[in-house]
Amino acid sequence: MSKLQPVRGTRDICGDDARRFSQVVDIFKSVAGRFGFREIATPLFEFSEVFRRTLGETSDVVSKEMYSFIDRGGDEITLRPEYTAGIARAYLSGGMQQEGVVKLYAYGPMFRYERPQKGRYRQFHQLDVEILGAPEPQADVEIIALGQQLLEEMGLASQATLHLNSLGDPESRQAYRVALVAYFDGNKDTLSKDSLARLSRNPLRILDSKDEGDQKLVANAPVMVDYLNETSRDFITSVKRGLDILGIEYTDNPKLVRGLDYYCHTAFEFITNDLGAQGTVIGGGRYDGLIEQMGGPATAGVGWAAGIERLGMLLSDVPEGPRPVALIPLGEAAEEKALKIASQLRKAGRTVDMAFRGKLKKRLSRANKQNARYAIILGENELAKGQAIIRDLDEGSQREVPLEGLLAALPPES
Ligand code: ATP
Ligand code: MG
Repeated sequence: MSKLQPVRGTRDICGDDARRFSQVVDIFKSVAGRFGFREIATPLFEFSEVFRRTLGETSDVVSKEMYSFIDRGGDEITLRPEYTAGIARAYLSGGMQQEGVVKLYAYGPMFRYERPQKGRYRQFHQLDVEILGAPEPQADVEIIALGQQLLEEMGLASQATLHLNSLGDPESRQAYRVALVAYFDGNKDTLSKDSLARLSRNPLRILDSKDEGDQKLVANAPVMVDYLNETSRDFITSVKRGLDILGIEYTDNPKLVRGLDYYCHTAFEFITNDLGAQGTVIGGGRYDGLIEQMGGPATAGVGWAAGIERLGMLLSDVPEGPRPVALIPLGEAAEEKALKIASQLRKAGRTVDMAFRGKLKKRLSRANKQNARYAIILGENELAKGQAIIRDLDEGSQREVPLEGLLAALPPES
């Protein structure tokens, strides 16, 4: 075994990273709960078909990023690259259609075979919210407001800009698609190889191209807003009115697309300038065609997903938890006594750390490393007298207290 390394694009999350991760999830759960969303946990893997059908063969995710394998029973399985498809599958197989409007939140790992770089991993983690069964623009407003509130409570609202676009209804999008194909067709020789392939299969995706040559072309391309029919214009106008009422600022971004066919009307991203090319922290939109595409009844849907790692990196320092009490028993009798004391303190709500071996000096240095404020030292001599030492590690002072009064003598948590 020479490969004692994490697999490329994966990482262990501990220490500061773990605190950031928890902070993001804790705030998310609190905000989503207050918006009336219920938690759902879907499996880490699904039949590959679930993603292939919904994301489409030509999407980046399906064509080159999926972790797929044949399991021992011969089934074709894929580790989930995103939440929406799995949640839509759960909605159908769990009979949630009966419930009317369903509002769900989830968080957990995702898997995509991507080129790893800062803010881009092969196993990464997402927060996700979905509203199913609500075709009204108010649902889009609520879902965006949830994203905004999350960023506010994380202290990131001022660093992120909400980009907004409308992809229109299918009729509008078809008209736009024709115009777009005509435009790019006339500029075929300057188009990148990737975008040339997108031209026939998924022309809207060209708007999203990272290629410089493509971007120059895109700057002069027709824009969706000129092709929206009345229904589509009314829809995005209602969404914007809701955002205005809430005082949520946005930037119109005609190049913002979600590359998949079932997306319609609202598309949005919260983008920061603080993460280089990986600046999108939240991305979402309306996907009224998805459930039908999966074989279910026509059902409206709107939602977003956010990268936990990216949000975590933007957080200012996350403080460590409460400072522990270090328990330092010396000798066998003291160790038994310490077991009891640790249990009592923990039941009383205190954080207690106990090293299992070592000389006093080594244990005190561990206590300092753990950021303990107080150490309780149980030496043989003290124990014989029915006493213990409480040492204030910040002050460097200590005093002896009777064992019975130990809990009361320990100053409150700081
Ligand atoms: P990008 O344009 O950065 O590739 P995407 O459009 O593929 O993003 P979505 O599928 O919309 O991303 O996922 C939602 C969010 O999940 C992104 O905005 C981002 O914050 C995060 N995300 C996506 N892919 C990764 C990854 N490989 N590593 C870390 N976070 C990611
Ligand atoms: Mg991507």
